[in-house]
Amino acid sequence: SAAAERPERIARYAQRMDATWTHAPQLMAELEQALTAGDVVVHYQPQVEVLTGRVLGVEALVRWQHPVHGTIPPVAFVPAAERTGLIRLLTLYVLDRSLAQCATWREEGINLTVAVNLSVRNLLDPGFVAAVRAALRHHHLPASCLELEITETMSMVDPVRSLEVLTDLDRLGVALSVDDYGTGHSSLAYLQRLPLRRLKIDRSFVMGVVDDVASAAIVRSTIELARHLGLSVVAEGVEDDATLLALAEMRCFAAQGFGLARPAPAEQIPGLVAGIEARVPTVLGIGVPQP
Ligand code: C2E
Ligand code: MG
Ligand code: MG
Ligand code: MG
Repeated sequence: SAAAERPERIARYAQRMDATWTHAPQLMAELEQALTAGDVVVHYQPQVEVLTGRVLGVEALVRWQHPVHGTIPPVAFVPAAERTGLIRLLTLYVLDRSLAQCATWREEGINLTVAVNLSVRNLLDPGFVAAVRAALRHHHLPASCLELEITETMSMVDPVRSLEVLTDLDRLGVALSVDDYGTGHSSLAYLQRLPLRRLKIDRSFVMGVVDDVASAAIVRSTIELARHLGLSVVAEGVEDDATLLALAEMRCFAAQGFGLARPAPAEQIPGLVAGIEARVPTVLGIGVPQP
């Protein structure tokens, strides 16, 4: 079926783009043009507080709506954008779109934080903190609306420089998260020296919490350790209610995954939030909160 072929087609496309990127400046130019033309869009995926079933925020996930190739996922162009430096522009674009959306939701009475993924280049860019400050000011938003996600390995490229940037972002009031925790080689002992507020456990562990004893042990002990270090844990890749219940039992702070909501265009988010907040408290056995 077309659906079954799609991941393979995407992978092939990613490979081709990756292999030809440096020899095909037109592709880079195409992405740059797509940014100006509005062909790069941001989808949002809800993050749900496990204790209450409330949606606290959304993660911003970029998609390229290519006129010929259709929707291209980030794996197919973010790595290439990182190598060529276009990622700087891409990050600022996603940041601007996400904050604009956050401001719009607030005007509608929907209070959601937005989490934006960073690239290692952003942590080495001397102008990055000022750009974040300017973007918040431009959209009249407090820094508490914004979260920034980094991966474990990012801060290791230039630990001194990146600690400076992370410290400045933290002082600004932006919440910093470690993404895909468990897939890198850092320890919590190393990470606790960074000004982090959240730990996002990689979905490869979360997906096994119900059936796999080792994954369950890893997730449970990570939540425990993180709590002692003052970090709140977000589980990614929550695909079903059984996983959500297991995480609730482990006192995980928040959950994100297809079982709660898939990433979706901004206009679908208010409906998805209402659906989650009507359904999830019942799943958790805590009843629907009174208005
Ligand atoms: P990530 O930051 O770890 O984002 C989570 C990815 O997991 C998203 O894929 C999301 O659609 C997917 N996901 C969420 N829930 C589930 C689930 O229950 N099951 C499964 N199997 N997958 C789930 P997506 O949108 O394709 O993004 C892939 C990666 O691309 C992201 O991983 C992030 O590293 C990168 N990325 C996305 N947007 C941006 C961006 O604006 N800037 C940068 N630098 N990187 C981005
Ligand atoms: Mg992320
Ligand atoms: Mg992640
Ligand atoms: Mg990931």
